[in-house]
Amino acid sequence: SSDNRAVMAEAHELLAKLFHHYLLNTEQGLKALDYLKGRGFSDEVISRFQIGFAPDSWDSATNFLSRRNFSLELSEKAGLLGKRDFDGKFFDRFRNRIMFPIWDKNGKVIGFGGRILDSGEPKYLNSPETLLFNKGKNLYALHLSRPEMRKKQQAVLFEGYVDTIAAWRAGVENGVATLGTSLTEDQAKLLKRNVPSVVICYDSDHAGVEASFRASSILLKAGCNVKIAKMPDGLDPDDYIQKYGAEKFNRDVIGASLTVMAFKIQYYRRGKNLNDEGERMLYIEEIIKEISQLPNAVEKDHYLRQLADEFNLSLEALKQQQFYTAKQQK
Ligand code: ATP
Ligand code: MN
Ligand code: MN
Ligand code: MN
Repeated sequence: SSDNRAVMAEAHELLAKLFHHYLLNTEQGLKALDYLKGRGFSDEVISRFQIGFAPDSWDSATNFLSRRNFSLELSEKAGLLGKRDFDGKFFDRFRNRIMFPIWDKNGKVIGFGGRILDSGEPKYLNSPETLLFNKGKNLYALHLSRPEMRKKQQAVLFEGYVDTIAAWRAGVENGVATLGTSLTEDQAKLLKRNVPSVVICYDSDHAGVEASFRASSILLKAGCNVKIAKMPDGLDPDDYIQKYGAEKFNRDVIGASLTVMAFKIQYYRRGKNLNDEGERMLYIEEIIKEISQLPNAVEKDHYLRQLADEFNLSLEALKQQQFYTAKQQK
């Protein structure tokens, strides 16, 4: 099986080269290249991230692997091919998609993310879990970003490939991304082994904010310093950079990222009229619930005092309420 892994790794390496070649040097690749150029991907970026194109064909990769004497059975287990139920015939898994190679921490290709051109479903098709590719244990672009992460003593965590790449173009070269799943403990530990601090920069829609809260608690548990970057409603990092430019992204998003608690305070305040008693009570409850989840007694005290001061409440009452809330959650 270590043999199988080596063969699978070689198949990935060769297919990454093939897809890259299809994108850059073939007629079929042109519309994909146009699409990428339209989204601001330069030649340098395409080459650095080894971006490719899987043609609109059922047998390009299949024939390629077969000509090079790869076992198609094994290629299917590697997530590169599909197999038809009714006659056992193999076919290309990735068709008519922009291909993003996914590497392990040493820079070996272990999987692919394929984005459909324009609209269509599913927008992204990733390699499945295989002997080689364990989604929860890898981070996109880690080997490329590690030098800058070490230098800055900080990593920036994105939702996906496109945002990581867009940020790199904007000068944020310490970015990595989860692979279409929520951040795992293993990924948090992997980050912690490389840097003390992580800035979470997810999409600013509801799902993205909820996911950034979950990621922040996993990162805090792993012992990281965590900040969350804030963007105007509905934008993702790539959208933001297209709209406002690199400089503003660095300064007003990454540079202005907030501690988790400060971010949550802003988030829960938004759209609430704190002069209204009901809304004010709801807000205070939400913040107390957050405070009750803080791991550190000094921090708890700090935010309870802040709340007491702002709303002219007794610190004793807030402490008691925090205590009950914490107990209820156990
Ligand atoms: P684009 O800008 O090209 O539309 P995006 O990165 O903004 O891409 P999102 O829909 O915000 O796309 O998804 C964020 C990330 O989550 C993607 O980059 C991808 O890594 C992952 N993802 C999204 N949908 C899927 C899916 N169906 N399967 C696997 N991964 C997915
Ligand atoms: Mn999203
Ligand atoms: Mn997005
Ligand atoms: Mn996007």
